Amino acid sequence: MASKKDYYEILGVNKNATDEEIKRAFRLKAKKYHPDINKEPGAEEKFKEIGEAYSVLSDKNKRAQYDQFGHEAFTAGASNNPGFDMGDINLDDILSDLFGGGFGGFSSAFSGFGRKSSKTHARRGDDLLMHIKISFEEAVNGCKKDIKVNVNEKCSECNGKGGFGEELCRTCGGSGVIKEEQRTLFGIMQTQKTCPRCEGSGRSFKEVCHACGGDGIVSKSKTLTINVPAGIDTGNQLRLSGKGGAGINGGANGDIYLEFEVEEHKYFERHDDDIYLEVPITITDAILGCKKEIPTLTGNGYIEIKPGTQNYTKLKLKGKGIKGVNSKTYGDMYVVVNVIIPTKLSKKQKDLLQELDETDLENEAEFKEFKKSLK
Ligand SMILES: [Zn+2]
Ligand SMILES: [Zn+2]
Repeated sequence: MASKKDYYEILGVNKNATDEEIKRAFRLKAKKYHPDINKEPGAEEKFKEIGEAYSVLSDKNKRAQYDQFGHEAFTAGASNNPGFDMGDINLDDILSDLFGGGFGGFSSAFSGFGRKSSKTHARRGDDLLMHIKISFEEAVNGCKKDIKVNVNEKCSECNGKGGFGEELCRTCGGSGVIKEEQRTLFGIMQTQKTCPRCEGSGRSFKEVCHACGGDGIVSKSKTLTINVPAGIDTGNQLRLSGKGGAGINGGANGDIYLEFEVEEHKYFERHDDDIYLEVPITITDAILGCKKEIPTLTGNGYIEIKPGTQNYTKLKLKGKGIKGVNSKTYGDMYVVVNVIIPTKLSKKQKDLLQELDETDLENEAEFKEFKKSLK
């Protein structure tokens, strides 16, 4: 414990820092080392350190004790010292205070700050992220999908209270805290601790609810029917506001985020809002030109192949692409011409091709000159 780093040092503030400065320093550091953002080894340890430092320095009483006694003030050790219980810190509460709730559910990313439901703080419900696979057609046209989700819901047995026969907590007499005296090197110190029975609410129950084990929330599997809007692409997210985990103590419900993965189509290829289609044509079609029937997203259509069309020519059909979920207009469709070279020919066809071979290539004369110059 002697090697424990100074809390002010951890947050990078000086001993006279104001509450606001401490808050700001914590916010910056927590963002930097959050295990969901920073995957470097040691980031999680660092994040925990920062959380511990902040929980002490942001609390007037704890800070005063720390200023006076240093880490000794919270060290669990001899006598009946209850120590400094990290379980008392609800980092979710701290983070959602600072970042406006978006960090709900993140404390599951690290151990040590177990997700202990505080009975006195309103806490926002968990956000859920789900991955959903849909077909190319479903993405283009939109669809309805049934999804199964497991969410925490308010227990219906006890109406979220956690038990029956509410009464003043017998352990703390309703104050929510218990006082303890502890002998330290510096004399007898009185400390206050959140009551472990009622977790600070001051109320407890004659009978704990069996359905939820006293938490007031139960995990439920339910099916939601969602409308997938037309134009969804891989990586697009849809937020189902308030459909996530139930909030606790009056906190708002969390959200469900759906992230889509669109399956590939056999023929159509999507690039943002544009669609690509490769169309095979014969060399005769390429040379003489033709009108070709092709599939589009809205049924069959025609394209005009001009005489003398080269391989991999791209023909644009304006507005025949996709209207993405965040787009104002439709993308375009590109037809890529793929001239197929025949491999099986009759004698007559070969003779005709021989005749075709007499055709002058545009740059042939120039090319012959070039070859001569090399000799
Ligand atoms: Zn219950
Ligand atoms: Zn109590």
